[in-house]
This record gives sequence, structure tokens and C-alpha cells, in this order.
Amino acid sequence: MKNSTTSGAGSLYVVATPIGNLGDITQRAIEVLSNADLIAAEDTRHSSRLCQHFSIDTPLRAYHDYTDQKQTEAMLDLLNSGKDIALISDAGTPLISDPGYRLVKIARDAGIRVVPVPGACAMAAALSVAGLPSDKFCFEGFLPAKAGQRLNALEALLDEERTMIFYEAPHRIIDSLAAMSEVFGADRELVLARELTKTFETLISGAAAEVLAAVEADHNQRKGEMVILVKGCEASAKQLDANVEHMMRCLLAQLPVKQAAQIGAEITGLRKKELYQWALDNKDD
Ligand code: SAM
Repeated sequence: MKNSTTSGAGSLYVVATPIGNLGDITQRAIEVLSNADLIAAEDTRHSSRLCQHFSIDTPLRAYHDYTDQKQTEAMLDLLNSGKDIALISDAGTPLISDPGYRLVKIARDAGIRVVPVPGACAMAAALSVAGLPSDKFCFEGFLPAKAGQRLNALEALLDEERTMIFYEAPHRIIDSLAAMSEVFGADRELVLARELTKTFETLISGAAAEVLAAVEADHNQRKGEMVILVKGCEASAKQLDANVEHMMRCLLAQLPVKQAAQIGAEITGLRKKELYQWALDNKDD
């Protein structure tokens, strides 16, 4: 259990910055960034523009923990020597498809105080306006770039009942929407949230095939930054194992739905309710 902090050490502040509209910075983020000894930034040139805009003159240092363990250790040494570090990424919340995990982990393991300074995050912003169920959701980050791996990743989500959230790059948006339409079905409800908080903020929602067609028809919809949200599958739409499905089809050919579900549940140990719903959905196929 870790609940004590190293005395004399500095703190690591994990600071969210805007995802487009600079008005979304928080008062506390400006204060923390101004008062820190060092800002650890993904891209110092990019972040220096943010700092200039808010008249923050704290020194910036490049930090990219995906590639360089030494950078992480150097940051830990500074924290241990009493320096306060503010970690930011190019936009939004650090660690959310952005660097920072290694630094947070190593700092917490070393007993350094790690402080969240919350603010903008594209996935939360997109979910808040998508009109898809938001009580339960899963964040999948970026899909793999290679077609085969992307299909495998989507197929692994076939039974996902929660709203699924993906980040995507403009040059892959058509391929990803096409793959989603193929795997989840052309009529699966989907929302594309683009350029949130910026001038060309756009939300397109509809069946997967409709959203794909809209993006194919208008090249402007392939520009900028985007989040894809996909409604989870209906509990009843879950696929059964091929053997169970075969058995259920044999039972359904001879018996009413309720009895087929009852016997199917006794044989397989699956829930009667699940098999009953499957039988209702498939009895006329
Ligand atoms: N850490 C960031 C956050 O908190 O959202 C995400 C960083 S990730 C490298 C960048 C991706 O986030 C983009 O490719 C896009 O999928 C999404 N994103 C960032 N800003 C966005 C915006 N204004 N509108 C829509 N999506 C955005």
C-alpha cells in the first residue's frame, strides 16, 4: 500500500490543456504551470505557444516517455531534489493516448506526490455530446494501423455492450469506419465527433454505413481531429459459440422458444434468459 510521500521532494502535477479552444484552460492549470519549476512537455515548440499565450515563463523541457527511460529517470531525480514538475501533452489530458504513464508510475513508486489538474479530454468531450449511452463506456484509444490487426481488434469487441470510444487519424478514418461497418454491422449506431471545441466542430451520427457514406462524400469530413463512438451491442445480439448455435437451431426446429431455451441452458450451463433472447431473435432465420 502506498499512501505516504517522500519528504523534501517536489510534486508532479499532471495538467490538462485545451484540445482546441484556448478558453478551455482552467484557472488552476495556469497557476500550476506558472508556479512549477519545470514544464515537461511532449513537444516544447508546440507548448511554448500555449505558454506565451498565457504569459507563463516556466522553463520547458521535452519529455516523451514512450522512447527514453533516461528522460524518465532524469525527471525523477529533479522531483527527488525538490523541484515541482508540471507534465503536459500537446493537447488534452496527459496519459490519455499521450505520454506520461511511465513518469507517473515511477514517481508514485518513489513516494512522490502526484497531483491531477483536470481539464479537457477529447474522449470525455465527445461522449458528453454524442447521445450514446454514457453510463458505461470503454476507451479503446487508437486502433492498429494495419488492416488485419484492426479487424482483429474490432472483432474482439463484438460482444462489447458498453459504448466504445476510439481516437482516429484523418488518413485512416475511411478504413476504420469501413472496418467497423463490416464487423459491427452496417446498421450499428455510430457517432463521428470532429474538431471539438474548434471552428469546424462537427458531429455526424447515424448507422455505420450512413456515417461512412457521409465521410466518403465530403472530403472536409476527413480533416482535423476526430473521435469515433460506437454504440455497444444489444445484450441479445451476442453471438453464440458455433456448437451452441447449432444445438439451439436443432432444438428450435422441434420446440417452442421457451422450452428450447430451457433445455439449451440445462445442457450448456448458459443463462436461460440469454438463450431465450437469442432464440427470439433467430427463430425465423
Ligand atoms: N490526450 C488527448 C486527450 O486528452 O484527448 C488525446 C491525445 S491523442 C494523441 C490525439 C487524438 O485525440 C486525436 O487524433 C483525436 O482522435 C483526439 N482529439 C484530440 N483533440 C480533438 C478534438 N479537438 N476533436 C476531436 N478529437 C480530438
